[in-house]
Amino acid sequence: MNEIKDYIDYPADVKKYDTSKLPKRQNFFFTVLLRLASQLALLTVKKGYKIEKINMEGLKPPYLLLCNHMQFIDFPIKYKATFPHRVHTIATLEGYYHKPWVMEQIGSICKRKFTTDISLVRSCAKVLREFKDVLCIYPEARYTPIGTCAIIPEVVGKLAKKNKVPVVVILHHGNYLRAPFWDFRRKKAVPLYSTVKQILTAEEVAEKSVDEINEIIRKEMQYDEYKWQKDNNIRITEDFRAEGLHKVLYQCPHCMTESKMNSKGIHIFCEHCGKKWEMTELGELKALEGETEFFHIPDWFEWERANVRKEIESGNYSFEDDVRVYTLPGAHKYYYMGDAKVRHNIDEGFVLEGNYNGEPYRVQRTVKSLYSLHIEYDYCHIEPLDCFDISTQHDSFFCYPSKENVITKLSFATEEMFKIANEKKEKTTA
Ligand SMILES: [Zn+2]
Repeated sequence: MNEIKDYIDYPADVKKYDTSKLPKRQNFFFTVLLRLASQLALLTVKKGYKIEKINMEGLKPPYLLLCNHMQFIDFPIKYKATFPHRVHTIATLEGYYHKPWVMEQIGSICKRKFTTDISLVRSCAKVLREFKDVLCIYPEARYTPIGTCAIIPEVVGKLAKKNKVPVVVILHHGNYLRAPFWDFRRKKAVPLYSTVKQILTAEEVAEKSVDEINEIIRKEMQYDEYKWQKDNNIRITEDFRAEGLHKVLYQCPHCMTESKMNSKGIHIFCEHCGKKWEMTELGELKALEGETEFFHIPDWFEWERANVRKEIESGNYSFEDDVRVYTLPGAHKYYYMGDAKVRHNIDEGFVLEGNYNGEPYRVQRTVKSLYSLHIEYDYCHIEPLDCFDISTQHDSFFCYPSKENVITKLSFATEEMFKIANEKKEKTTA
């Protein structure tokens, strides 16, 4: 019997994209074009935007630029803030769907989400040492689901240390509140404010250890959009402001039921027990009746995460589902693979098993190989529904679950299982 393949054997005419390609230097014509396009995009921000530069005087590339990631508008702000310098960004293939030539002209470095790509180190060194340009990373590797900072991987500090360059952080505020990941199509009237701050000089990077550098980066990249909203008394008056919030707040804190939350207008509610909360103009929650379990939205989110962690630790976590799969071997087309089965547990991590052209395939990402999960709410490129993606170095498998409202929990489980595996490792090596 033939061995089951861990990749799709595509017909010869299917175009693939080689993510190990080294970046080209950004064509300066495109630097100018990006600046102009950014200006046009920023005209759509009804309440205006402000960019404040801190400790940036006299700083010239090369440097490492880290940005928090909330919405598409992050990019125009970045290009405005860094002009006339050339900025090379680590990007994902689907970000340049149909237009990989643009990705190459602007000198982006292409990567598949949450994969280890050994060519990445070489590509980054090329930008910083040979081109002497700005290397931009969105270290959270996705739009924030709840307006707070996600995991910043170790490799970020290592990259600064290895290339001996200053580190700058752009911290955006308001972008998430204007168009949260869970309802990104409709824009709310929110003023935007971004700081551009040099957090480490080249000398400081040279003196400090990788751990110290990472500690400073993590501290400087912390943000909490709902706190920022309240501190700045920003009122969001749109009458649809809570719509979509149930995708991230999927567990009811009153009856504990999962995936039965829903939202409409300014309310989020549980379809199982009927409890209802209002999202106020200042971005807080208020139960219409009885106790308000969480005023601060990110607290509810972290409570869910803690519950998933307990479930894993007690040995009760496992997920299985039938999924519809689409793959993205190149940048031009998603290929429909039909139905497949997916399971997720602490022993195996993710296992996806399906058939393509009568040939079975089996893709696995172990717990230790995946520190976070790429999820999409209402995904704009394939079907406008929630999905998650399991990527290998050469392909991405976008999976649409049959079960409703499960992807946020899957991302918690991925992150918590990875942390548990590493804590065990630390204990045994201590
Ligand atoms: Zn309930």
